[in-house]
Amino acid sequence: MASLRRDMSTFNGDNFQCACGSEHTFYTGAIRVLSEGFNGKFVVLCPNNPQTLSLIKTKMKFGIIYQGLQYLAGCEIDGE
Ligand SMILES: [Zn+2]
Repeated sequence: MASLRRDMSTFNGDNFQCACGSEHTFYTGAIRVLSEGFNGKFVVLCPNNPQTLSLIKTKMKFGIIYQGLQYLAGCEIDGE
């Protein structure tokens, strides 16, 4: 697991739309964060479907006010 620049626990309790079609609540430890990219985007693993990845973005107002988590895209890992 790559080291994270941001303290992801700040998102605890926030809901996010998942690629599996349902909504999950983010908790560090319960939701695996696979990578954190630029501009507040990060990839999380679905807690119900371990082969489903979701690209999530932190919604910011004026660049400073945190407004929640926004689902951008999903991906299925074609694993066996
Ligand atoms: Zn899911």
